[in-house]
Amino acid sequence: MLILECPYCGVKAEETELSPGYEAHLKRYGPGASDDEFESYMFARKNPKGVHFERWRHVYGCGKWFLAARCTATLEVFGTYPAQTSAPPPDLIEAIKAKRPGWEGYK
Ligand SMILES: [Zn+2]
Repeated sequence: MLILECPYCGVKAEETELSPGYEAHLKRYGPGASDDEFESYMFARKNPKGVHFERWRHVYGCGKWFLAARCTATLEVFGTYPAQTSAPPPDLIEAIKAKRPGWEGYK
């Protein structure tokens, strides 16, 4: 079972207490964006086998959204952090690189 620690209330929540919000750190485009940029925002999602950054909501707890880095193949959780960040924290990136030497990093 997937267990994620909510960065707000500190609870180690089981998967059944959480609601997935899909991919984290999507780049949103403004009114001057091209059709291709808007299409990529609306429909293009990463689906890696390995490290993935995702949005989760602690729906049966504090109710807040947060972000998590986990491996989609092994369910290993590398860390969670507040949803108000525009990129993963550098210390989390370093922790992932230490565990996954071949990982290309966050793009
Ligand atoms: Zn919480």
